[in-house]
Formats: sequence, C-alpha cells, structure tokens
Amino acid sequence: MATLTEETRGETDLPATDEARWRDDPQLAKVPQVHPETLVSPDSRAVIVAPHPDDEVLGCAGLLMQLAGSGHEILLIAVSDGEHSHSNESAFSSDLLSHVRPAETSEALTALGISNITIMRAQLPDSRVGEHQRKLQDLLGAYLQRGDTVFASWHRDGHPDHEAVGLASRDAARAIGCRLIEIPIWMWHWRTPEHHEIPWQRARKLMLGPDMRARKKAALECYRSQLEPDHSTGNAAILPPEVLAHFHRDFEIYFV
Ligand SMILES: [Zn+2]
Repeated sequence: MATLTEETRGETDLPATDEARWRDDPQLAKVPQVHPETLVSPDSRAVIVAPHPDDEVLGCAGLLMQLAGSGHEILLIAVSDGEHSHSNESAFSSDLLSHVRPAETSEALTALGISNITIMRAQLPDSRVGEHQRKLQDLLGAYLQRGDTVFASWHRDGHPDHEAVGLASRDAARAIGCRLIEIPIWMWHWRTPEHHEIPWQRARKLMLGPDMRARKKAALECYRSQLEPDHSTGNAAILPPEVLAHFHRDFEIYFV
C-alpha cells in the first residue's frame, strides 16, 4: 500500500470506510463469482504488477495460490521497493525499507506456499511512480508477452502510485495484446460502496476457502514494517487492523 503524504492524498482525504459498510453492501453481495481459470486461461502466463511490496498479497494472494497450485507460470513485477512508506524522520530509513520490504514479500510468498514465481524489481521511486509512468509502460512492454494476463492496481484506486501503475499497465497490455484485469486495494479504504466510479459491472468475486484465507492472513503478517506503529516517530501503523479487515475476507474482487 504505502502511506499517502499530505501532497498525494488529495481527493482521497476522506474518512476511512469501515469493513462493515462493504459487508452490508448489496452491490458487493451481488458480484458474480469467477473461477481462477476464467481469469487466467490455462495457457496464459499471469503477470502481477504491484506498486509496493504488500499489494501482491493484499490484492491477489488467493489467486496466486490457486494459479501456483495449478502450475501456472507467474511473473511478479514489483514496481517500487516501497521505500517511502515511513516519514523522513523515521528510524525506518528509505535505505532500510528498500531492503526490508522486498524481503517481506519473499517471506509472504513462502507463507502462501508459492515457490514457482519469478520476481522482477523495477525499483521506480515509491510515491513518485506517476512521474515515471512512461518508463514503467516501456519496461512492461519489454517484459510482457502477447497472451499474458496482466493484473494491476485499479487505475482509479485513489493512490497516485496505484493509479499510475493501472494506467501504465493498461497501455502496455493494449499495445502488446494482453488481457488486463484490475485490482482494487485502496478503494476499500478510501472509497464508499456508493462511489460513482466503482465499475460494479466489471467486478468478479474469487472465493477463498478456509485454508487459503488462513494462509493469506499468515502472509499478511509477514509485512511487519507496515503492521506495527512506528515507535521512532509515534506514527500509526500503515496497515492498522481496520485496514487489514478489508483483506481478511473469504473472497477477492477483480475488475475484468
Ligand atoms: Zn500500495
């Protein structure tokens, strides 16, 4: 995820949405279920484009487990190392975070039981991905193959990095001839179910059984730098329990 600074928060400077709002929402309840094989056909490689280390598990741990279980080829493109999740005054310096956070992703993927995955780190600057959107698009163009199924953060997700990743992925996927599927992440926190931009008609629900749900929860616990309050500054955790609640569900939502 990564925190939003005062400059980047902008229109998303709204009260957070409680998970109960989503749980009780009739539109979310009506979203049709989808099979992983419908999202990614058996002969297609899955490419996950994650803005920050943790988005891959927050957004699509269940899908990753199911694809890995069926022997799918998976490429994870880590756009940034998430080095700016903490304030400049924090003992979590950007240098430290650029090592810690990718290691947390590796640990989380292990917790999911996923070993057959290739990770490519683009190392674009965290919180400034939008300034490098064209570079990211070119980079994706170099890595994507025709027929890949590309998963990226939703281009209206409410976080500038997530939106830039969504737009660059959309353009690169279109140019190469790949299917693009978008994943809402910040949406669950900053938007409400009534938000006019949520593309409910494109939404599909991937169910997670109890074992997968437990493994996703265990994987999320690996992102310790994001889960614990920053004692060096007194700042709250990036992913406090009320945010994590959106990702402890027994389903994931994809915009196809
Ligand atoms: Zn993120």
